[in-house]
Amino acid sequence: MDFLNEKVAYLRGLAEGLGISENTKEGKVLASIIDILDDIVEAIAELEASQADLDEYIETLDEDLADIEDQIYGDIDYEESEEPLYVEVECPNCNETIYFDKELFDGEDDLICPSCNETIYAGDVDDLDDIEDLDDETDVIDR
Ligand SMILES: [Zn+2]
Repeated sequence: MDFLNEKVAYLRGLAEGLGISENTKEGKVLASIIDILDDIVEAIAELEASQADLDEYIETLDEDLADIEDQIYGDIDYEESEEPLYVEVECPNCNETIYFDKELFDGEDDLICPSCNETIYAGDVDDLDDIEDLDDETDVIDR
């Protein structure tokens, strides 16, 4: 941004150095253009500053969210939990959102979409994190 500032300052100096006078029509227009360039550079600088603030804020939010996720999910022992754990899967065939018991993913069996009866996943994933990433990666197995 300093770079743009310098360029506009140089242009202003150049116009003065060349003796472009604001008393001429062309000089008036050029001086106005240089003023507007100044305003634009200033506006961009403000946007950049506000963008940097937002970046920082989002980073903080992201870290806070990660802490909260750790607190909520970090202590759950998936092996010994008595509550059934479900994973959400969007069927790549009919786009229906389906909930499967996590234990179904522990076996080698394919999962069948209850809505369209297509096979949507051949289970060989034993990590819940991997399962949550499947949305775009699930291989559809044709039968
Ligand atoms: Zn389906």
